[in-house]
Amino acid sequence: MLLKHTTPEIKERKALTINPAKTCQPIGAMYAALGVHGCLPHSHGSQGCYAYHRSTLTRHYKEPVIAATSAFTEGASVFGGQANLLQAIDNMFKVYEPEVIAVHTTCLSETIGDDIPQIVNKAGADGKIPEGKYVFHCNTPSYIGSHVTGYANMTKAMVDYYAQKNGHKTKAINLVPGFVEPSDMAEIKRLASVMGVETIMFPDTSKVLNGPLTGKYKMYPEGGVTIDQLKETGSSHGTIALGELAAGAAARALDAKCKVPCQVLNLPIGLQDTDIFVDTLRRMAGVNVPDAIDLERGQLIDAISDYSQYLYGKRVALVGDPDQMLALSRFLVALDMKPVYLVTGTPAGKKYIAALEEAVADVSDEVRIKVPGDMFLLHQWIKQEPVDLIIGNTYCKYIAKDEDIPLVRHGFPILDRMGHSYFSTFGYRGALRLLEKILGVLMDRKDRDSSDIDFELVL
Ligand code: SF4
Repeated sequence: MLLKHTTPEIKERKALTINPAKTCQPIGAMYAALGVHGCLPHSHGSQGCYAYHRSTLTRHYKEPVIAATSAFTEGASVFGGQANLLQAIDNMFKVYEPEVIAVHTTCLSETIGDDIPQIVNKAGADGKIPEGKYVFHCNTPSYIGSHVTGYANMTKAMVDYYAQKNGHKTKAINLVPGFVEPSDMAEIKRLASVMGVETIMFPDTSKVLNGPLTGKYKMYPEGGVTIDQLKETGSSHGTIALGELAAGAAARALDAKCKVPCQVLNLPIGLQDTDIFVDTLRRMAGVNVPDAIDLERGQLIDAISDYSQYLYGKRVALVGDPDQMLALSRFLVALDMKPVYLVTGTPAGKKYIAALEEAVADVSDEVRIKVPGDMFLLHQWIKQEPVDLIIGNTYCKYIAKDEDIPLVRHGFPILDRMGHSYFSTFGYRGALRLLEKILGVLMDRKDRDSSDIDFELVL
């Protein structure tokens, strides 16, 4: 009983969060920055924040996550961090030779009120930014929002700093993935490439945080969007953003700045939302959907119809980032499952809650939604009326163990399993994988709970 103090009785809490279903803004900003080629993320704050952010990303991706820090001590905390950041920019370009530095703030530098653009301008004027190299920034005060907000802010900063009107139009489609796995980014690009669509993805952490072991350490792996590509996004034919909360702001900023029309879609998790993504890409790029994609879709439908009997009516608790939770809920409802408890720690607004309510409108059981909410409340709901399955990040394992409920790990962070960096849950193939994972834990449970008489060889 690791969470033995959780009681089924719910007391109203206004200011207290217990077991938050989110983490802090700079983690998302650092992750997005790693999706720029040759980029060294820089945390403008104290060493403790940066160590936490790096270690969380390293533990999730099992890759050595690079970043630097302004290393605030008492002096910088009182008088501001300008001197630290100027020195840091100089050191980074001299010692680590990145193509670009992406600066994000922390609670401390935000509270002081450091003016990052002014400091970066001074660094340029002082000759600390070499010719052809870049520094950009975003603000990530972590007492607002979550890691999703930080990711959205850094992605939008790529547009604000680099997207430009180039006096010409290309056929390329910009793809802005939300805070998703490198494997998901690779899957989106694969689908687009099978359809013959030229794309620019930003940020793009595929081949950065799921690269091969070659025996030779490469500080800046080959993946990531380049600054030249970011400049070209302003000439693209259109933009598809995946996930309103994490990707919508960048797509709209690009539309406003360079008149590149955008569509903001749900993450392509499951049949319905992958259909919408493929169809939108088809229409925007003016291409046909090839047979190879029809085949993948048909295989998914076949698997759903073969196994629906094991999914029907199963009650599910979902906890995670808002964009993931919305698409997952829609997929679960399409599988005839019942997502009954939905919790995200990221404040997401009324429009999001309305979309979530619409997604689960046909669920026959009572559905409880808390946005923003925490995992303590989710545990209390489960104690009041149990579920058959939990889907969420590694922190859910405590509830799963205490209540003896199967858990499918999905989202961020996953600290105790592998696979998420390599196997996507996006597209038709990803939906098959998700289905396999869900069925695997449910059927394992059925085997475990069967008496000797009911124990079946063929399921
Ligand atoms: S919440 Fe603020 S102080 Fe804490 S690690 Fe994040 S940025 Fe640093």
